[in-house]
Amino acid sequence: MTPRRLQVSAHQPGAVFTGPGSRYANPFRAGDPSPDLPDRPMTTHEVVDLFASMLRGPVGRFYAAQFAAELRGRDLACTCSVDSPCHSDVLLALANGLDHHAGRSTRLKGTRR
Ligand SMILES: [Zn+2]
Repeated sequence: MTPRRLQVSAHQPGAVFTGPGSRYANPFRAGDPSPDLPDRPMTTHEVVDLFASMLRGPVGRFYAAQFAAELRGRDLACTCSVDSPCHSDVLLALANGLDHHAGRSTRLKGTRR
């Protein structure tokens, strides 16, 4: 079965917690200033895309390889609603060789490869 993302409400047996405070947490938060436009707060979509960009960067690639190895085949659980964008989608895609943009239309201009 394809690993999926869960929303943490109670302990999710077998799932890896990727939310705030975990080593897989997104360091960027919605509402933080955008790196491109510092006076404009980032949206949830943008922080997810920024997280994805970071993992493709020179330092991030090192973490990306580790995270992929650790999370492959696992369900991921975050505090985000399953209906809203979450960096765990990026981690799921990374760990399982999928494109996290599949099925999504909003992206942050300038952060794609
Ligand atoms: Zn999340």
